[in-house]
Amino acid sequence: MSRYVYPFDQGDKDQKDLLGGKGANLAEMTKIGLPVPPGFTITTQACRAYMKDGHVPPELRVEVTMAIREIEDRMGRRLGDFHDPLLVSVRSGAKFSMPGMMETVLNVGLNDASVKGLAEFSGDERFAWDSYRRLIQMFGRTVLGIDGDLFAEALEEAKRASGAITDVDLSAADLKGLVERFKQIVREQRGRDFPQHPREQLDMAIEAVFDSWNTERARLYRRRERIPHDLGTAVNVVTMVFGNLGESSGTGVCFTRDPSTGHSGVYGDYLANAQGEDVVAGIRNTLPLAELESLDKTSYGELLQAMRRLETHYRDLCDIEFTIERGTLWLLQTRVGKRTAAAAFRVATQLVDEHLITMDEAIARCTGAQLSQLLFPQFDATAERELLTKAMPASPGAAVGEIVFDNAQALERTGEGVSVILVRRETNPDDLQGMIVASGVLTSRGGKTSHAAVVARGMGKCAVVGAEEIDVDPAAQEMRVAGRVLTAGETIAIDGSTGEVFLGDVPVEDSPVMVYIAAGLEAGLAAAEDEATAELIHAVDRVMNHADAKRRMQVRANADTAEDARRARVRGAQGIGLCRTEHQFLGDRRRDIERVVLAEADDEREAALAELLPVQRQDFIELLEAMDGLPATIRLIDPPLHEFLPDLTDLAVKVARAEDEGTVDERDVALLAAVRRMHEANPMLGLRGVRLGLKLPGLFALQIRAIAEATVQLRKSGKDPRPEIMVPLVGSVRELHLVREQAEAILAEVGAAHDIRLDLPIGCMIELPRAALTAHRIAEEADFFSFGTNDLTQTAWGFSRDDVEGAFFADYLENGVLTISPFETIDSDGAGALVLTGVAGGRSTVPGLHIGVCGEHGGDPESIHFFHDAGLDYVSCSPFRVPIARLEAGRAAV
Ligand code: ADP
Ligand code: MG
Ligand code: MG
Repeated sequence: MSRYVYPFDQGDKDQKDLLGGKGANLAEMTKIGLPVPPGFTITTQACRAYMKDGHVPPELRVEVTMAIREIEDRMGRRLGDFHDPLLVSVRSGAKFSMPGMMETVLNVGLNDASVKGLAEFSGDERFAWDSYRRLIQMFGRTVLGIDGDLFAEALEEAKRASGAITDVDLSAADLKGLVERFKQIVREQRGRDFPQHPREQLDMAIEAVFDSWNTERARLYRRRERIPHDLGTAVNVVTMVFGNLGESSGTGVCFTRDPSTGHSGVYGDYLANAQGEDVVAGIRNTLPLAELESLDKTSYGELLQAMRRLETHYRDLCDIEFTIERGTLWLLQTRVGKRTAAAAFRVATQLVDEHLITMDEAIARCTGAQLSQLLFPQFDATAERELLTKAMPASPGAAVGEIVFDNAQALERTGEGVSVILVRRETNPDDLQGMIVASGVLTSRGGKTSHAAVVARGMGKCAVVGAEEIDVDPAAQEMRVAGRVLTAGETIAIDGSTGEVFLGDVPVEDSPVMVYIAAGLEAGLAAAEDEATAELIHAVDRVMNHADAKRRMQVRANADTAEDARRARVRGAQGIGLCRTEHQFLGDRRRDIERVVLAEADDEREAALAELLPVQRQDFIELLEAMDGLPATIRLIDPPLHEFLPDLTDLAVKVARAEDEGTVDERDVALLAAVRRMHEANPMLGLRGVRLGLKLPGLFALQIRAIAEATVQLRKSGKDPRPEIMVPLVGSVRELHLVREQAEAILAEVGAAHDIRLDLPIGCMIELPRAALTAHRIAEEADFFSFGTNDLTQTAWGFSRDDVEGAFFADYLENGVLTISPFETIDSDGAGALVLTGVAGGRSTVPGLHIGVCGEHGGDPESIHFFHDAGLDYVSCSPFRVPIARLEAGRAAV
């Protein structure tokens, strides 16, 4: 029979779904014999039933009665009794720790009668009334929703009236008066008396915990942390133990080892004569835990033993909440402790050295996200700097540069070797070029899913967004902030990890871990300025080596130029998974492409293409040389042709103006006609990829010939080039067949001319649903597949990636249609299902078909695990993300 209540001696740590984190760990501590006060957990299932029905399930009330009675019998006390009453705390505890939720209510069960019983039993009247006022205060705030300041002010007033410095200086009489005042606040604010019946207090507190699951701040927190809204929270009801029973009592928190270095030792804080929340609230100064030894040697010894026991049991760093009641130690909470990115690596390897965990477990505990935090460049924290504003940290890193307000400026200044920060109100796809060349991006509008944020993260580029205090005025070429007016060309510095924007030049440095990744262990150690950093680098090195040894998937990089290729290679890339060739047609070569498009006769077009051949060949020579000995997948030209032509409106205006002035250039007129002819309403679904290749066969032929000739030339000079030819946007096997025929003919011809056998692999992107669905057919013509998950996501959803982010993603994240952008993490039910279909189809025709992924998802941790499970051979991602993908591919394999 399913039930809603689990006494602590009936659960364990693996039941976090049902009992929440706190409840599962309280049960585990009980199980291993540590001193936990008796109690029980109400399951998340009960919370879900409450949310669905709007009231608690009737069975729950019965089960709570039974569980409470059991505790009462064990303790020989009754909840809220007149003599020696049993009191409990009511604590929320979801599966994931959630600071946005209701806090704890302590001392439930106290009322006007039982407060006297408590005084009698404890022999401490002051303590009893202190406990009662705490109950009304916490209950009033968290259960009845009364503004906490009203209680805090009344407390201050009571202290003033009696000349008390801290709350421990208040006498029993003072506290009695304060209780009356608190009860009056409840009456005034809620039009009812503070509930006197212990069971009513308990039931109200339980429901309040359930309700707190859906408060605004809890929902906001879950959205940010990607926690589903339908999990619900558990509620823990725990027998009260008292740290505020005089000087032989107290409360504290501790870690089983140093949370930043992983070294063993005694780390924590202690506060005598206090209840739990006082430590966090910082009402009085805490003592270092080590001083407990001189206050209460026995309890201290017991605590150290419990810490060791927990660490052995969890085999990880734990944090612990404890209370000492008149010399008796009680444990009230434990969990595997949160830690910084650096600590994750150091703690994990430290535990390996102590033979507490294996290396497999160690890499499971160090995430790609943590590694990426260690790789971002840093501002030199010791430098002097002036803060202009602080906004949303959208994409980490540290960047310094001149302010530019548009693409043209960005290109011009970076062309002159100057670093720039692109400053916009918000960005859109037109700003892409500027974003690519800029060192960082700063916007005054938009959130974490805005275009600027998403694109910058994809590029691994530092970005700060939504800086509302900045007034960006591109027309005036200035931005106004903090009473200053900054114009284009002035220098600012932005920190994408903190959201800070500084005036002027702040020195930036590579992080030592980055130095290690790019230049090896020796260099990394040399860059480390202290022992702790050197230890960190050793730890990262061990984790990376183990991940590399364990992973099944290879990691390639998306690299368009020789420089990118080299950058990827030093970071451990095992090839290029995607070389986009369209960049090679921008800039000076745009004119040549125009000629190809405008050519009226075939020979004219041939001539234009012939001029492009040598430059294109040179591109490939450089790229393949940089990747010597490793595979390099070169994608034939993909975007719609009009992207290489002038903007329709701009050109129309130019021609019209020229006509007025009688200075018409015939070439412009012809160009305008061509641009008009090629204008498409839906270019991303239009004449692009293989469609364009088949329509203008000379273009693919040129590229294939350039690849073939580059290969021949490098081979002749003793190199080992390994290009792979990739055809984009294939939807039908026949398309690939036609390109393949053409390609094979060219390869044979070039090969024959040089007496070299050129059978380069020819494969295609799988980026349309139809390609995934007909992959078994396409595999007949393909030597490899590469999933283009960006387009696949776009076409699976029917979303235009360039438009939706700003248009309605924010709404979709708000109303729960999306929990994360499907362009960031693969949507496993949709686009992901197409990947699985494509893999199964392809390999049913060609067992062992080589398959990779080259979309943005190739660098996303969660997606990498999906691709591992899908059986892919490699992921390809931006050079910057290569180390992260290596680690995550290793983690996926253990
Ligand atoms: P949080 O999740 O915010 O830490 P907790 O439920 O752990 O909230 O409780 C807040 C404080 O109250 C902690 O210091 C905890 O140790 C203390 N506390 C909770 N239950 C009891 C209890 N039964 N007896 C004594 N102190 C308690
Ligand atoms: Mg706690
Ligand atoms: Mg594509």
